[in-house]
Amino acid sequence: LIKNAIESKNPYNSKVLQEYELDTPELVASKLEKSNSVFKVWKEKSIKERTNLLNNLSNLLEDRLEYLSELMTQEMGKPISQSRAEINKCIFLCDFYATNAENFLADDIIETDATESFISYDPLGVILAIMPWNYPFWQVFRFAVPTLTAGNTALLKHASNVSGCALAIQKLFEDSGYPQGCFQTLLTDHETIDGLIKNDIVKAVSLTGSEKAGRHIAKVAGEHLKKVVLELGGNNACIVLDDADLDTYLDTMVNARMQNTGQSCIAAKRFIVTKGIYDEFLGKFTKKIKDLRFGDPMEESTEIATLAREDLAVDLEKQVHDAVKKGAKVILGGKRDKAYYAPTVLTKVNTDMAVFREETFGPVAPIFKVNDFEEALKLTTDTKFGLGTMVFTEDTEKASKAISEIPDGAYFINELVKSDPRLPFGGTKASGFGRELSKEGILEFVNKKTVYVK
Ligand code: NAP
Repeated sequence: LIKNAIESKNPYNSKVLQEYELDTPELVASKLEKSNSVFKVWKEKSIKERTNLLNNLSNLLEDRLEYLSELMTQEMGKPISQSRAEINKCIFLCDFYATNAENFLADDIIETDATESFISYDPLGVILAIMPWNYPFWQVFRFAVPTLTAGNTALLKHASNVSGCALAIQKLFEDSGYPQGCFQTLLTDHETIDGLIKNDIVKAVSLTGSEKAGRHIAKVAGEHLKKVVLELGGNNACIVLDDADLDTYLDTMVNARMQNTGQSCIAAKRFIVTKGIYDEFLGKFTKKIKDLRFGDPMEESTEIATLAREDLAVDLEKQVHDAVKKGAKVILGGKRDKAYYAPTVLTKVNTDMAVFREETFGPVAPIFKVNDFEEALKLTTDTKFGLGTMVFTEDTEKASKAISEIPDGAYFINELVKSDPRLPFGGTKASGFGRELSKEGILEFVNKKTVYVK
């Protein structure tokens, strides 16, 4: 490895793809200055000018779909069909804000004693984003598209294993006609990020990542009174009630855990199943998971792949070992080979185990047997995380009665918890705070200014 460099490595075949030299302190400083000076020009553009660029961006994503999907699959190992789906989702996001941003950002007139009073949504300035590798395009786009469209500029510190994607994203913005410096990627380390948060030029921070990173960034930002949006880990429950329609929804339940090889913050990480359907569910669910095709992620037919790095598979192995030591039974999987962790189903699990208490970031499904919905809800909410809960039942009325009992950022009935540009996305408790996507998301990094004309 060259000095002060980070490398991208294909987790499927362990081949080093490329080494990237870290930005020197001088380069980081000049990118920061550039971001600030471009902001002064960018904020004066009309929203129409900015949404026109979103249309260019959407077209460019379409043109580069194959190239970007392959880059993503090589750097973090996700099956190629899922990489394509991710780029397509980014296109949908660009189109959504291209259509709706003007309306979301329009002055909000409020009748008072004044001749005129309204809320003006002004951009804040330079926003720093710290992003994870699991959806290397989607996570960045869902931050950057609304944030830039609102008139801010952005600096990205991406996860160190996806620098190729990080640079490709900057190039997408530049080639779409965004002013140079509007969106810049930094190749840098954690200490430099602390320094940037302290810097007066940086007005706010958005982090998607682990709880540990969230606590650190929130502390540094708090010290310097910078606004933060935190999208952190999750431990979503998937409740399956006796009357769930397995014929219709089994694939959804499997997908809820196994998509992106289990590396999703909103994945179903605890299956809580009532006793009347437990045996049938366990049998059918395990068979479906056993049938998932593992292979080269560049192959069309591959459904499940290695994890993005070997250390992630080692962490998962430790969590499963902990469960087994405490009495869990391995029904399927439970084995590791370098960065590969076999899709795993565990029974006889309890609340003392790491697979219940902590987030499992990989293809491991612990299954809990409970007597009824009430008991299921108790287990569901017995976690420090609060991203989302899903329940499968034919009695949607009964499921709806529990809305107020779910303290999470999302509650999905007969569907897996998923993000959609039209709906707000975010968590509660140790899953963070703030919202992305929809109107809520575009209003996170704006000054909601009250204007009053007597
Ligand atoms: P991570 O280790 O926290 O890393 C996320 C990002 O934060 C990376 O860019 C990382 O940089 C950076 N980072 C970590 N500690 C930092 C520090 N002290 N100072 C500055 N930057 C720091 O998380 P991950 O393993 O990449 O991602 C998985 C986690 O993200 C899971 O917990 C998952 O649930 C969560 N996630 C949440 C959402 C959501 O929307 N709620 C979505 C996706 C993922 P380096 O790579 O250089 O360390």
